[in-house]
Amino acid sequence: MKIAFIGLGNMGTPMARNLLKHGHTLTVFDLNHALVTALTEVGAHAATSIATCVKNVETVITMLPSSPHVRSVYTGEAGILANVAKGILLIDSSTIDPHTARDIAMDARANATPMIDAPVSGGTGGAEAATLTFMVGGELSAFERAKPLLDCMGKNIVHCGGAGNGQVAKICNNMMLAIEMLATAEGMALAVKLGMDAKVFAAIVNTSSGRSWSSDTYNPYPGVVPTAPANRGYSGGFGADLMLKDLTLVTDAAKSAKQPVMMAAAAQQLYQMHSAMGHGALDFSSIIKLYQQD
Ligand code: NAD
Repeated sequence: MKIAFIGLGNMGTPMARNLLKHGHTLTVFDLNHALVTALTEVGAHAATSIATCVKNVETVITMLPSSPHVRSVYTGEAGILANVAKGILLIDSSTIDPHTARDIAMDARANATPMIDAPVSGGTGGAEAATLTFMVGGELSAFERAKPLLDCMGKNIVHCGGAGNGQVAKICNNMMLAIEMLATAEGMALAVKLGMDAKVFAAIVNTSSGRSWSSDTYNPYPGVVPTAPANRGYSGGFGADLMLKDLTLVTDAAKSAKQPVMMAAAAQQLYQMHSAMGHGALDFSSIIKLYQQD
């Protein structure tokens, strides 16, 4: 299939590489020319603008930082909707707010171009290994058209309902993860402060009702789970600033729905403080540092 791929950052580049590996023809664009050049070295065609990138393709995939980028790339004067042929399938895999996703999908429908929101979980490791989970919002027919392509980049491809529902699934899942990580960090730090050995305490939690993914797979306390970012200075993994971004999306979405999210609001403020203290680039489990002041 002929595919335009726009946004070749930490996630977009490995996703595009996996499409190339499956024999698809890719035309790629990013504001950072070095990223475009790197992909041409493995067989992609370079485009110099969004307009040229989306000409003569069957599908467009975008992987951009946040809502304003996605809005301008799709609906700007020189953007995708102004330049793409009718009937072309549009797939946005960026994590953005559900309202923006729904607005752009409506503009796309008015333009006779079906669109799905297909944010991912699994991080850069999942993007490289083609094991991402895609949470897809949009018409079932568009989902079915997209699925063979998403299968080249991911392992779990789930239709979540109408436009924007992929983003709903993504941000609500990450909201629960942030709260769960904070609970684990708070409990681990307190148990150690009160005299417990971290490993002994984690072993009890992990066979008791306090167990969670954050405690048994990704424990924030160093020395407990050998593969967790806590054991490599919180490098790699899922950045605290990306978690802050998702918590801000979810608290904004809750505000517009007049839905209380007390724990998410507290988590958003705690991650904002953590970021302000200069820890935004560390893995999100480094939030335990808030509890380790001495
Ligand atoms: P990134 O910042 O590494 O990459 C984004 C790319 O988009 C950059 O290369 C940038 O130059 C490009 N870009 C920005 N504006 C553009 C424009 N107008 N035209 C063309 N290119 C433009 O981000 P990333 O880590 O690849 O994440 C992409 C999305 O995936 C984000 O929404 C993020 O929240 C989400 N996500 C990231 C991860 C992760 O672990 N990195 C995991 C899950 C979801």
